[in-house]
Amino acid sequence: MIVRNLQQVRDRITTACMAAGRLPDSVRLLAVSKTFGAAAVAEAASDGQQAFGENYIAEGVEKIRALRDLQASRQGVPVGALQWHCIGPVQSNKTRLVAEHFDWVQSVDRLKIAQRLSEQRPAGLPPLQICIQVNTDGGGNKSGVAPEEAHALARDVAQLPGLTLRGIMSIPEPADDFVSACAVHARAKALFDEINARGDLPALLDTLSMGMTADLEAAIHSGSTMVRVGTAIFGKR
Ligand SMILES: *Cc1c(COP(=O)(O)O)cnc(C)c1O
Repeated sequence: MIVRNLQQVRDRITTACMAAGRLPDSVRLLAVSKTFGAAAVAEAASDGQQAFGENYIAEGVEKIRALRDLQASRQGVPVGALQWHCIGPVQSNKTRLVAEHFDWVQSVDRLKIAQRLSEQRPAGLPPLQICIQVNTDGGGNKSGVAPEEAHALARDVAQLPGLTLRGIMSIPEPADDFVSACAVHARAKALFDEINARGDLPALLDTLSMGMTADLEAAIHSGSTMVRVGTAIFGKR
């Protein structure tokens, strides 16, 4: 079931890329495995899926530990290590667990959390890959930095030695239709381009993380480079 679902999601991504005049490999797929167990992750990994997203730290760390020795494979041939992305809120008291276990954190919206992640990243591991979470649709008490503050936070995060800044993540409210979904995603894309155009970061941002099960076509149309898909791969939560 998971393998068939994965294939359908890959087909959706390819079709959306072609419709947008983009190369199919310009969009990465993050499989969001929150609330599903290690066996579900292992099944996706057996079909070549390498990148997995987790919202809840303790649950994610448990799976990361359980699957430590598993490689993703295709038709039985290993294709590489699993890559774990933290996509949920990170409280100060959880930064050490995150820094010690995850490969990416896409949900950074405060400098203090970024500083702790940098300090607590073990020396033997590569830098944590970071996205700044931006609240692109201005939902009142949602997490994510305001768009006008994203550039300053990005500059500060890019200085931290234990981190590598990669891009921005946006989680807009569900939209009613394709056109309104595109309108919100276009704002995130404009911000992404604007930050890169300023040219004052150590490296260009290469990751615009937006689009989920319901709106991945609109996100890809608008320039997403990474879609985060849970339900369409693993089923209803
Ligand atoms: C749960 C979640 C997803 C996946 O959502 P689906 O609608 O199940 O595809 C993507 N991004 C974030 C931040 C999430 O929390």
